[in-house]
Amino acid sequence: MSRVVVSKFGGSSMKDHEAMLRSAKISLEQKSDITLVSATYGTTDKLHLLIENAVNGDWNACEKILFTIREHHFDILNNLTKNTLAGEQVRELINNLETLIRGIFLLGECSNKAKDRVVSFGERVSSILFAEAMKITCPDRSIQLFDSRTILKTDSTYGKAKPNIELIRKNCLAFFKFDARNSYIGQGYIGSDNEESTTTLGRGGSDYSAALFAEGVRAHVLEIWTDVAGIATTDPRICSSAKPIHEISYDEASEMAQYGAKILHPTTLVPAMRENIPVYVGSSYASKEKGTWIKSKVESKPKIRAIAKRSNQALLTIRTPKMFNAYGFMGKIFEVFTKYEISVDCVTTSEISVAITVDEATLKNEHFLHELQNIGEVVTEIGHTLISLIGNQMLETSGLAKRIFDSIGEVNVRMLCLGASPYNFNLLVNEKDGDATVIKLHKEFIG
Ligand code: ADP
Ligand code: ASP
Ligand code: MG
Repeated sequence: MSRVVVSKFGGSSMKDHEAMLRSAKISLEQKSDITLVSATYGTTDKLHLLIENAVNGDWNACEKILFTIREHHFDILNNLTKNTLAGEQVRELINNLETLIRGIFLLGECSNKAKDRVVSFGERVSSILFAEAMKITCPDRSIQLFDSRTILKTDSTYGKAKPNIELIRKNCLAFFKFDARNSYIGQGYIGSDNEESTTTLGRGGSDYSAALFAEGVRAHVLEIWTDVAGIATTDPRICSSAKPIHEISYDEASEMAQYGAKILHPTTLVPAMRENIPVYVGSSYASKEKGTWIKSKVESKPKIRAIAKRSNQALLTIRTPKMFNAYGFMGKIFEVFTKYEISVDCVTTSEISVAITVDEATLKNEHFLHELQNIGEVVTEIGHTLISLIGNQMLETSGLAKRIFDSIGEVNVRMLCLGASPYNFNLLVNEKDGDATVIKLHKEFIG
């Protein structure tokens, strides 16, 4: 079998017709067999806002958003092509979107299932436009626009669906016929459940989609094209001295993604690791600039490779005097987390209490909090940021902790987590100190 390449272009690479043409050129140069695209930049946010306004009964606001979405997509289309079929497809999709939104407005409510259907429009429209950009860029190729929902099968957890790996593999084998003349174009982020209802993989999930397709077709390489030239030692938007990382292990990159480096969706690397598929992250704006290779074996393994930041963290402290010399308390707490499928990032315990960090959004789940309150007294603190130092051999800390604390000076560290993995050292600080802490740690450990 020839070398199979799966690539994904994010929202910033779909920003306007020029970005689309630039991305199409890369897809062609890279001989990409399957290319998945995100919604155009900012569109998924607009679709969420649209739902919110419809539920709140503000039809004027809905009309304004629908108008901007329509104008933006037709603007891209008209700059790309006079193909009337594509125009009709875009018009029909946006009309369908309007009908759905009107239904939500009239009902004054929106189920998670309906939400997924609405937000899927972003990727569905952008992929039609991108297919046109591909046809212009590669006239001698056969551009096959497909609906990812027919292949990426998931469960029915709307908003954060879980993929059915076996079925995806089976569908991939049945559908794709790789040939140098064929380019398949599909949508990231979206899938469908057993009843053919639309599902999504969670915000930023197009990276994950691409990795699932790469796993499904046993690709030789997965390429993620974004607005920066690969993974840097920290978010370049926070720290201007962030340095490019040209090679990084799956383990380190997974920790970075898990602890907030937005450049990769947290679960992207799981399918890639299962099939040992190397992942390349590059810039669609400067494709010749060296990006990052993520793979199982890398040459250098620095103690501190990068610093990640995850904002909007809450700290839950569950306390019970009964825990003294007792067992089973932790089990009960984790059972509640499992029941509500809430992931635990950092945990510390004392004789009578357990402190756990969660995303602040978790606090909206009243049933979850109520069940924890049945186990013990729950104290909630919000407004925190989790800072993670990511690297190798972090369990050998002689001198490390001193350097960390010396460099961050007066910053109050509310919680420390170390010991579970050799790849990270986590600090929980106040949100207001987050960026400054990243900059100080970066200066101390990376320069
Ligand atoms: P896309 O729309 O292509 O999916 P995202 O906005 O999701 O792009 O991810 C790219 C952004 O991730 C960059 O613009 C950058 O600000 C941010 N980012 C966070 N941490 C890092 C990091 N360590 N290295 C590079 N970029 C990072
Ligand atoms: N469009 C979706 C989002 O903005 C998925 C993605 O871009 O990865 O979350
Ligand atoms: Mg992204």
